[in-house]
Amino acid sequence: MMKRNTLPQQPTLVADWQTLTRTFIRPENEAAKSTLIKYMEQILFGLHDFLKTHVGFTEEISLKELATQFTNSLISKNPEKKLTEVITDLIEDIAPHAVNVASPYFVGHMTSAIPFFMVHLKTIVAALNQNVVKIETSKVVSIVEKQVMAKIHRLIFQKSDRFYDEHIQNAGTTLGCFAENGTLANITALWVARNSLLAPKKGFSGVEKEGIAAAYKAYGIDRCVVLVSKRGHYSFNKAGGLLGIGNQNIIAVDVDKKHKMDLNRLTETIKELKSSSNKTSILAIVGIAGTTETGSVDPLAKLGEICAENSIHFHVDAAWGGPTLMSGKYRRLLHGIEHADSVIIDGHKQFYMPMSCGMVYFKDPTIMDVVTYHANYVNRPGSVDLGIKSLSGSREANSLILDSALKIMGSRGYALLIEHGIETARKFAEEIQKRHNFQLVTTPELNILTYRLYPSHMKQETRVDEKLNEINRKVQRLQREAGHSFISRTTFREPNRLGQDIVVLRCVIMNPMTTIKILQEILDEQEKIYQENFI
Ligand SMILES: *Cc1c(COP(=O)(O)O)cnc(C)c1O
Repeated sequence: MMKRNTLPQQPTLVADWQTLTRTFIRPENEAAKSTLIKYMEQILFGLHDFLKTHVGFTEEISLKELATQFTNSLISKNPEKKLTEVITDLIEDIAPHAVNVASPYFVGHMTSAIPFFMVHLKTIVAALNQNVVKIETSKVVSIVEKQVMAKIHRLIFQKSDRFYDEHIQNAGTTLGCFAENGTLANITALWVARNSLLAPKKGFSGVEKEGIAAAYKAYGIDRCVVLVSKRGHYSFNKAGGLLGIGNQNIIAVDVDKKHKMDLNRLTETIKELKSSSNKTSILAIVGIAGTTETGSVDPLAKLGEICAENSIHFHVDAAWGGPTLMSGKYRRLLHGIEHADSVIIDGHKQFYMPMSCGMVYFKDPTIMDVVTYHANYVNRPGSVDLGIKSLSGSREANSLILDSALKIMGSRGYALLIEHGIETARKFAEEIQKRHNFQLVTTPELNILTYRLYPSHMKQETRVDEKLNEINRKVQRLQREAGHSFISRTTFREPNRLGQDIVVLRCVIMNPMTTIKILQEILDEQEKIYQENFI
């Protein structure tokens, strides 16, 4: 990278029609081809070794320093480099400064190792370059997508054979929809809920057409709200903004000690809203199946009941926890999810797909009619074009990856991964509790837990939180910078201790290569960093 700045390339390459047509269809020559094969072979058949050797080793270059090497805003007129050089640069220069999320010591985020075959599947999807927005650019691929959506729908809602026979390839109904990520999937779910609530009626042609001001007038209300636990993902706030209901109307309901939505607080909130002078409609109640910070699962069955009683759209955000449904052993943790009107699951999380894939599913296969769009040149009425009911336009065939992966893994294969995560998290929690200088803050329900350094000599003192916060912030940062392992951190504002923030370390266990021994090493390292810096 340094070279690029100090020694500009001689302009020996030219973009002419002849080289362009060659560049478009094949490598330059046999030598170039063998360079490409060398790297691609490592990636395709030795992915995990490749990542270990090439990605994120820590020669300590700061982000700031790196930024000084990428300050060129000019597109060169002629080619700067040949394909082989560019690929070599990517692997030799860029990859080392990327993050090795596949390391079993990287347990801080929901992005981790993926099975090597995912790269093969992704390559094939890129090679076919289908666009599932419409049948004319995807044909069988759209049909495969409908099939895989039925598989996931069935995993969630467990409807009858007859139901799936009727809808699996029905051009008029839809069981769900793929999106680029969980954020867009949540937005889609609330978009559908909004349009269902503020539907067309006599003298009003619906919120989608007339907008939010006309809708509130037609329905005689002042505002719409969404109720979600305080641990809800911030994508709901984006949805509030985008859908015109305002993100201050995404109301955060307090959580109980286990970080699950507090049902008493929820019923009180509903009561308050009903009696408020501000005429308010509840657009949806959201249950989270695996919160981003703590992995807690809201009381879904109870939420389902409350929604049914009050005719409120029940949305479940299972972006993280959804695939737990494949484990016979732990499926019960998501008990009640089948009552949801909509559910989202991320493919790039616990389906172990490459970045990125979101999905939203609906219990009622006709509910997406409220977001139908047609265009004259695509998505004509009556066609099976998947773009008719979808927030995204053009979109890659992620369904091919998911469908193939389900075949390769089987639900049992996925269950083993999920169970490994949950059980390793439990062992880790026990380990933390055994150590005098640590405190387990949230017990893992799924495979996420939080804890903090809490040196034993401080356990007698009072008002230690600020000091502990400083310790935990610093230890987390120093451990990340040392580059052997990574645990993330988050901050809880404790409801009972007004305004007192608690900084915690957050551990997400999804990599099957992460063992309890590795986690012990991570704790050892944290203890060592603490002792070196605070004693
Ligand atoms: C990750 C996550 C999301 C958002 O998903 P993206 O794919 O990052 O957009 C939403 N909700 C929960 C609970 C999540 O864990």
